Amino acid sequence: MESTAIKKILADQPAYRHRQIQEAIYQKLISNWEEATALPKDLRDRLAGEAPLEIKAEIIADGATQKAAIALTDGNIIESVLIKNADGRNTVCVSSQVGCALGCLFCATGQNGYKRNLTAEEIVAQALLFARLLKNSPPSSSPLRKGGEEYERVDNVVFMGMGEPFLNWDNVSEAIKTFNDKDGLNIAARSISISTCGITAGIRALIKFPLQINLALSLHAPNDKLRQELMPIAKKYPLKNIFDALKDYLHEKNRKIMIEYLMIDGINDTYHLAGELADLLEEIPKHLVIINLIPYNPTGETRRPAGKFQPSAMNKIKDFKNALGRRGFEATIRESLGGSIAGACGQLAGKK
Ligand code: SAH
Ligand code: SF4
Repeated sequence: MESTAIKKILADQPAYRHRQIQEAIYQKLISNWEEATALPKDLRDRLAGEAPLEIKAEIIADGATQKAAIALTDGNIIESVLIKNADGRNTVCVSSQVGCALGCLFCATGQNGYKRNLTAEEIVAQALLFARLLKNSPPSSSPLRKGGEEYERVDNVVFMGMGEPFLNWDNVSEAIKTFNDKDGLNIAARSISISTCGITAGIRALIKFPLQINLALSLHAPNDKLRQELMPIAKKYPLKNIFDALKDYLHEKNRKIMIEYLMIDGINDTYHLAGELADLLEEIPKHLVIINLIPYNPTGETRRPAGKFQPSAMNKIKDFKNALGRRGFEATIRESLGGSIAGACGQLAGKK
C-alpha cells in the first residue's frame, strides 16, 4: 500500500522506485527516509518532507505487553497493544476507529463516543510501529520461536482494539491486504482476526472476502434481552439475524469461528446461562466453534446505573467452561495480559 503523498512523489519516477520504496517500508522496516539508501538523496529529501515515516507514539511496557498511544496527524490519539504470547509469538491488537459509536456498557472505548474511522494507512501504521520496535530489539530467547531469525516479527494481528471494524470495512479490508501481502508485512491470513459485535453486513462482506482470515463474534449474552441490556447495538441486530449470517459464513468458509463471552460477575455468568448459551450454539456445527471466556477487565468507568461491573471469580468461570464442555463445546479462558497498563481488550480509551 502506498500513501497518496508517496504516489504523488513517484508519479514522475521510474517504475522500480515503487518496489524499492515498498521494500524499504515493509521489509527493511525503516523509520525515516535517510535509511532508504537505495534511493537518490533528492528523492529521500522530498519523501521526508512530504511523506514522513515517523509514527508519533508513547509506549508503556508491562511485562509481556506494550501499549502504544499513537498521535494521529489531526491530534486524535489511538491505542494499540503488542502482546508477547506464551507460545513466543507476537500479536498486535489494532484499533479500527477513533472511539466507537456503539457504547457497550462494559467497554472503555464505548464510553467516550465516536470520532472517526481510521484510514487504511493509520491501521497499517499500528503494526508497522511494533514491527520496527521488534526489529530493533534483541530477539527473545524463547525456544518456541523458530531458530535462525535475525529479529522478531509481528506474527498475528487482531482487530480487538478501539472501534468496530465492520463499520470501517473499506479501510480495514485494505489494511488486511497490506498485512497479508508478501511485499507488505507478509502476515499469514490465518493469523489475522477480526472481532465484531455482530454487524451482519460485515459478516456477509467477509464471506466474499478472498483472504481466509478469522472471525470472532462478541456475543457476551445468550439471549436478546440480556444482550440488549449490555450492548445497545443488539437492538438493531437480533441474535437470529447474526446467527443466520454466521451459518452462511460457516457454510461458505468452513472455518472455525470464535465466540467471545465476557465473564461479568452476577450478570452473565450463571450456570443457567451456560446452558442457554449451549442451546443457542447448537444451531451451528460444534467442530466449527470455539468459545473464549474473557474475564471482564475493570474499566473504571462503566455506565451501568447500579454500580460497577466486576469480573467473575475464576471458579465461576471454570464452572461455566465445564458446563459448556459437558454439552460438547470447546471453551478456553483468555489469559488477560496487560491489565495493569490498561492495555487489555476493552480498556483502550485513547486518553493521555
Ligand atoms: N468492536 C469489536 C472489536 C473491539 S472490542 C467488538 O466488540 O468485538 C474487542 C474485544 O474486547 C471484544 O470482544 C469486546 O467485547 C472486548 N471487551 C470490551 N470491553 C471489555 C472489558 N471491559 N473487558 C474485557 N474485554 C472487553
Ligand atoms: Fe465498540 Fe466493541 Fe467496545 Fe462495543 S465492545 S463499544 S462494539 S469497541
